Amino acid sequence: MKILVANLGSTSFKYRLYDLSGDSERMLARGGFERVADHAAAIESCLAELQTGGSIASERDLAAIGLKPIIARGITGCVRMDEPVLQAMEAYNGLAPAHNPPYVNGARLFARRLPSIPVIGLFETAFYQWAPEAAMRYAVPESWHRQGVRRWGFHGASHKYIAERSAQLLGRPDVADRVRRLYVDGPATPVQAPELRVVSCHLGGSSSVTGIRDGLAIGNSLGMSPQSGLPHNNRVGDLDSFALPFLMRTTGMSLDEAERQMCKEGGLKGLSGGMNDLRDILAGIARGEAGPRLAFDVLVHQTRHWIGAYAFELDGLDALVFTAGIAENNPEIREAICARLDRMGIRIDPAANRQAARGREAVLSAPDSPVRILVVPTNEELVIAREVKRFLER
Ligand code: ADP
Repeated sequence: MKILVANLGSTSFKYRLYDLSGDSERMLARGGFERVADHAAAIESCLAELQTGGSIASERDLAAIGLKPIIARGITGCVRMDEPVLQAMEAYNGLAPAHNPPYVNGARLFARRLPSIPVIGLFETAFYQWAPEAAMRYAVPESWHRQGVRRWGFHGASHKYIAERSAQLLGRPDVADRVRRLYVDGPATPVQAPELRVVSCHLGGSSSVTGIRDGLAIGNSLGMSPQSGLPHNNRVGDLDSFALPFLMRTTGMSLDEAERQMCKEGGLKGLSGGMNDLRDILAGIARGEAGPRLAFDVLVHQTRHWIGAYAFELDGLDALVFTAGIAENNPEIREAICARLDRMGIRIDPAANRQAARGREAVLSAPDSPVRILVVPTNEELVIAREVKRFLER
C-alpha cells in the first residue's frame, strides 16, 4: 500500500513515499522544496518526481495522501480531510497561524488534483485524547472552556513514535502494542505490571516535553496553541496571560504587532538577540556572548522544569528520551539537562553522550543509572503512514 506523506509549511513542501504491507515498512522516496510560493506547483513536481524515479507508475498507485494537521475545533485523531474538517481547522487558524492554513490549502489542492485518492490527516493533538482532564484544563470560566480554551498538546505524532519505540527498546512489547493500536482500539489493550514511565523530550525548531504512562500521554508542555510551553526557535513559549494586556496598554502596541512578535521575535531568537538555530547559539556561546548563553540556559531550565513535573506525576521514571533536531544532535544540551540528577536516579555517561552518532538510537545512561537515558530519532512521517494504513483498513 503506497502512501504519500506530505509535510506542508507556509513556504516549504516535503514528502516521503512509503510502501506498507503486512509487517514490511519501506520508504520508497523522499524529497522536498523550499521557498515554495505555490503549493499546487509543488504537488505537481512531487508527483512528477515519483513517476520519473519509478516509485509509482501512475498516480493511481497511491492508496492515500497522509498529512499532519495541527488543530481543529471539535475534531482530533486520524480522519479524512473533508470540507467539514477543513472548516473546523479554519475556525482555529488563529491558534496556529503558521501551521493550519498551509494544511487546509494543501488538503484542498490534493483533493482537487487527485479526486479519487483519499486525503487523511493525523492531528497533532490526537495523542492527548486520554490525558487526565485535570492536566488539560485551564482555570478559566466554563464558558471559555467551551470555546476551546484548554490545553490540547501537540507534537502527537513524534511523542507517539517515542512511546512505541521506547517501549520496544525497554523490552515492553505489551506497551508498544497498546501504543500501536491506540487510535483504532483506544487505550483498552491490556498491559502488564509494572507501569512503564517515560518522559519524551522533543527539542527542535519547536519543542515539547510529554509524560507517558504505559504508552498513554499524561500531558504535554504545549498548551492551547503551538506557541506555548518551552521557548521555541522564534515563538515565545509560556507567558503569563497578563503580560499581553499590560504591554499593550503601557506601550500602545497593537494586538497584531504583539502577536507577530510573540510568533516571530520570541523564543530562542528573543533571548539570544537574534539567533533561532541552536548551532548559531552554540557558536555565540563559544564567542563568550551573554544572549546565546541565556537562551541555552532558559531552554535547559524549562526542559528540566517539565521533566520534573512529569517525573513527579509518574512517581518516578524508567526512561528519559531525547528526540528531534536539537536533542538528537547536541550532546551539550543533553548533558546540561541531565546534570545533578543523581539522586533522582538520572546518571548520564558523558562518554556515551558525546559519542552518540547523529541519526542513530543510543543509550546514554551510565550502567548504574536506575533511569535509562535514550536518544531515539523521531519519525513522524512513518507514524502518519502507519495510521493512514490502519484508517484505510478499518
Ligand atoms: P522542526 O521542529 O523544524 O521540524 P527539527 O526537529 O528538525 O525541527 O529541529 C531543527 C532545529 O534543530 C534547528 O533549528 C537547530 O536549532 C537544531 N539543530 C539541527 N541540527 C543541529 C546540530 N547539528 N547541532 C545542534 N542543533 C541542531
